[in-house]
Amino acid sequence: MVNKILLIGPPGSGKGTQGIRLSELLGLEHVAIGDLLRAEISSGSELGETIKAKVAAGELVDDDLILGLIETRVEEAAEKGYILDGFPRSVDQAKKGRKLAEPVGARPELVIYFDVPDDIVVERLTARAEIEGREDDNEQTIRHRLALFHETTKPLLEFYEKQGKARTIDATAPVDEVTEKILELMRG
Ligand code: AMP
Repeated sequence: MVNKILLIGPPGSGKGTQGIRLSELLGLEHVAIGDLLRAEISSGSELGETIKAKVAAGELVDDDLILGLIETRVEEAAEKGYILDGFPRSVDQAKKGRKLAEPVGARPELVIYFDVPDDIVVERLTARAEIEGREDDNEQTIRHRLALFHETTKPLLEFYEKQGKARTIDATAPVDEVTEKILELMRG
């Protein structure tokens, strides 16, 4: 079974939920870049201050900073296998990530693309805002994050399709079904 997995999809497509479930089921490292950034922000560090405004506005944080977060985890991830949610978010980031991953054998084996129509994303995130109170889950920022996703992140689908690694799933299906589908794809 493959054990180096990228989860790619628009905000609110369920990557976070599936990442947690799969890592618990399979004992893989679960790395969610957004969670790492939010932890840094709540720590009140200087670095947190720098990224706070970008995350709140739904903008991408600088590549160097993100690559720094990836770099410290890449060897362990190569060894244990990983579920990575939130990286890469652009083809540029993917190319930079490849330079870190290749030497230690950490390149992804399978890329799951979570397909969800925009109107469902907006609906889900608006509901999540009431439960989790994330600062970036307001309608204006949601729309901006979605536009950024289409422009910058979605081209990764073609990038990984060309490498024969990408599989698209219907992420509007019930949570259990999505998990089952991903497990099926991992088994190959
Ligand atoms: P998420 O929890 O994945 O929705 O990420 C929340 C926010 O963190 C995003 O809207 C970005 O501001 C930032 N972020 C997460 N991953 C990345 C990344 N790979 N590159 C740049 N910014 C990121």
